[in-house]
Amino acid sequence: MPRLVIGSRNQKKLVELQDLLHDLPIELTNLSPWPNVPDVDETGASFEENARLKATGYAEATGEWVLAEDSGLVIPALKGQPGIYSARYAGTHGDDVANNVKLLAELALLPDDKRAAYYICVAALASPDGEVKAMAEGRCHGVIVKEPRGAGGFGYDPLFEVPEFHRTFGELSLRVKQALSHRAKAVTQLRSALRNME
Ligand code: IMP
Repeated sequence: MPRLVIGSRNQKKLVELQDLLHDLPIELTNLSPWPNVPDVDETGASFEENARLKATGYAEATGEWVLAEDSGLVIPALKGQPGIYSARYAGTHGDDVANNVKLLAELALLPDDKRAAYYICVAALASPDGEVKAMAEGRCHGVIVKEPRGAGGFGYDPLFEVPEFHRTFGELSLRVKQALSHRAKAVTQLRSALRNME
């Protein structure tokens, strides 16, 4: 059975990615067997570049097939922010509370009809020699609400309302998020490439 390393140390992302891939005939692992492999710096200028950097970097460091992704929240009315800087929008990488506070403050300066948003995920599959063999993008559209609702998910999820459900990803179950999310849409497109790993 081929082995696949999920190239992320974000525990919440890992839960979602492992769940999305669990039915494939693949031995899945995260990066914990490689504690000395440093995090790949996200120095790219786009989600695509960062996804490539992570997939290639972790594949070369581990000598394994790697699935990596770069994702974020895009607000067209904020000129695309937080975009590729979503994880560190307020300054500290991964400070979800501060990021959400900053987002609400920025949107409070705009009219109410400017709160449309989408999540985007670009996923990349790299072979053990570091070559990117497949890439895919998924998007999920929504609206940023004025106060956080729900404790599910991570990141901007308590602020991200899915219009069809009138609920934020913080309020919806993991099952529902996995049916709708940007990450699920990207990973689903890579399933045939994942089945063809050798
Ligand atoms: P990355 O690790 O550089 O890809 O950063 C991803 C960041 O985008 C996260 O830290 C969150 O701020 C945001 N993000 C991406 N996907 C999601 C999601 O599914 N829910 C909430 N926030 C997300």
